[in-house]
Amino acid sequence: MPGQATELAPAAQLTDAGAGPHTLEMRAAVLREPGKPVAIETVLLDPPKRGEVLVRVAAAGVCHSDVHLADGLLGPGRWPMVLGHEGAGVVTSVGEGVDTVAPGDHVAFCFVPSCGACGACRAGKATLCEAAGRNGVAGMLMDGTSRLHALDGSVLQHGLMVACFAEYAVVPVAGAVPLPPSIPLWQAALLGCGVVTGIGAVNRASLRVGDSVCVIGCGGVGLQVVAGARLAGAGAIIAVDRDPAKLELAVARGATHTVDATGPDVVDQIRALTGGGVERAFEVVGTPVTIRQAWDALRPGGTAIVVGLAPAGVEVSLPAIEFLSEKTITGTYYGSTNVHAALGRLVQLVVDGRLDLGDVVQYLITLDDLEAALDRLRRGHGARSVIVMDEQLAGVGT
Ligand SMILES: [Zn+2]
Ligand SMILES: [Zn+2]
Repeated sequence: MPGQATELAPAAQLTDAGAGPHTLEMRAAVLREPGKPVAIETVLLDPPKRGEVLVRVAAAGVCHSDVHLADGLLGPGRWPMVLGHEGAGVVTSVGEGVDTVAPGDHVAFCFVPSCGACGACRAGKATLCEAAGRNGVAGMLMDGTSRLHALDGSVLQHGLMVACFAEYAVVPVAGAVPLPPSIPLWQAALLGCGVVTGIGAVNRASLRVGDSVCVIGCGGVGLQVVAGARLAGAGAIIAVDRDPAKLELAVARGATHTVDATGPDVVDQIRALTGGGVERAFEVVGTPVTIRQAWDALRPGGTAIVVGLAPAGVEVSLPAIEFLSEKTITGTYYGSTNVHAALGRLVQLVVDGRLDLGDVVQYLITLDDLEAALDRLRRGHGARSVIVMDEQLAGVGT
């Protein structure tokens, strides 16, 4: 397992590194250059400022967005960066003005710590928060600065304002959602991206009881869409993926049919299974081909929801005449919801035994195994890998 982080005392000893008092030295996964293996480095983490909290990371999920960042597909200027945006841990200390969490609290990370004041926030669209979006893309916290530095003092970006492929993370307080301690943190790690994104997409789709759905792409997020569709009372739930193991997991989570995505007739099969197409098609891959499949799988009046993250610059074309059949295509970001409120509801489902978290985790790994996990995602192989930073803290075995 990775070594313990240590608190470096006298600030004066660190002057050359540009670090302040109580700066932590810790191990973290640093994206130095896209296309090259992510480096596991010793880095420096400054203490939390006003409105921020320091969290000891217990576990972190490896998500496809991490692959896109590591491969430089989300645009230029996004490195050097400490990766990781889905995780959970225990609050260690809090900055001034923080009163919603305290040291010792278990928290899940939320990568859109909405400001509550911008136009999007005032309109009730918290996940589209303008300030969080701007700072998230810049790799900075909400005050526009970073707490992360390399040993030479140079600034490192916070991956999606979380940077939890590390032993500790400083996040805005709105980026730390309190959890009941009964949920093991290696499972809770999934809540802040895969679970809220996947299940939120089902809400975004305004699914009605009995609606038929297809879920194209059954990885860490798609499997949550399947679970959400089942909870929402969907009729046929058709899981589509290249990987038989993921299709098996989808069936365990409530899929009623499976379609092998390596076949040439994916859309025909979905249409045949549903007598002409689904009412709601979820695309959870982020490619032009799969987005088009979601559109083509719809019956007239149906809605396609694009959940998958496409690389910057990718375009999709649709047969425009089909707008006459009142088909709709829409996007969703991070569950299109108030993440704190949504996680509160989802956590209750977990506590009540109605939503399983751990079943989608196929690999528990160490930080040093990150690159292999990114490779599995590149190949579309397997569901979630979760990095365990500390087995005991993460509750592994429970
Ligand atoms: Zn993610
Ligand atoms: Zn805002």
